[in-house]
Amino acid sequence: MKISCEIIRDLLPLYHDGVCSNDSKMMVDEHLANCDSCRAELQAMDDELPINNAEQNLNEAEAVKKLSLRWKKGMRKSLLRGILITIVIIALIALAIYSFMDFRILPKPY
Ligand SMILES: [Zn+2]
Repeated sequence: MKISCEIIRDLLPLYHDGVCSNDSKMMVDEHLANCDSCRAELQAMDDELPINNAEQNLNEAEAVKKLSLRWKKGMRKSLLRGILITIVIIALIALAIYSFMDFRILPKPY
């Protein structure tokens, strides 16, 4: 049975990713052995992949950069908040110690 190029090209992406059934794979293999244009099609898929990966990597790098920028901004904000809270706590503790010392110093027995 002669399989048309259209059928093979429908199957090529699956064949390329190795997710088609064994029968389909054998059929494509058989066809590719005799068909230059379908072989070229498969070759084109092989060539496409690294470009897609690079693009994806670029996008991921961009996303990571954006994310880390946002994260840094968030960090700075929470760092400022942390410093503020720390200052308030230290002030409160200092006040408490001060008033405690005042309390101990002031009521002197006359
Ligand atoms: Zn073909």
